[in-house]
Amino acid sequence: MMDLKNYNNRDVSEDYLYVEIDDAPVIWQDKFKRVVKRTLSGELFVGLWIVMREMLKGNTHTIMYPLEKLPISPRYRALHDIKRLVESGNQACIGCGLCEKICISNCIQIDTKYGSKGRKVVKGWTLNLGRCIYCGYCAEVCPELAITHGQDYENVSEQRAHFTTMAELVTPMDIFKAGKQKQYPGFGSLSPNADDNVKKTPLAY
Ligand code: SF4
Ligand code: SF4
Repeated sequence: MMDLKNYNNRDVSEDYLYVEIDDAPVIWQDKFKRVVKRTLSGELFVGLWIVMREMLKGNTHTIMYPLEKLPISPRYRALHDIKRLVESGNQACIGCGLCEKICISNCIQIDTKYGSKGRKVVKGWTLNLGRCIYCGYCAEVCPELAITHGQDYENVSEQRAHFTTMAELVTPMDIFKAGKQKQYPGFGSLSPNADDNVKKTPLAY
């Protein structure tokens, strides 16, 4: 059986065999002639033999999902991740509502309220994965990089109610504390020289 490592290189174009195919017959006499020719030349058995030969060589391209999985592209848009702020561990979402507005499936719902100091606080944030089409707009538009797409694509369920989710998407605390939350560059992310920039900020401001 082909090991998973070899699936990374799936360019098999060098092995392509180009065949010339005659134009399809139009009149019935030509169609009949083609059937006879194909039957007598045993093309069916040639095909069967090739399949049998590859099977005997153990050259199968089947993997044993879910025990084995193919690697997916790092740009693949699977289940969302809701990020935590690196400094505090709080959710990075500021409740701006941009993801809710841009979502073309209308599956994000955000509820905010005034906090104790008059600041906006996110009261509820739900994402109905049963409606989501994984277009990625919400991740594109988020100014805080609070919502991104992860690599987990196994989100099947028998119940629609299981698709309405919020808490499961937030980075789990143990993963966060282990420093394993994935960070991406861009607006809202930590910059490597953040400390230097803060020190340079004039006190008057
Ligand atoms: S990926 Fe697209 S459809 Fe899904 S929540 Fe984001 S904006 Fe909506
Ligand atoms: S766009 Fe980002 S910060 Fe704004 S509400 Fe959505 S997840 Fe939160």
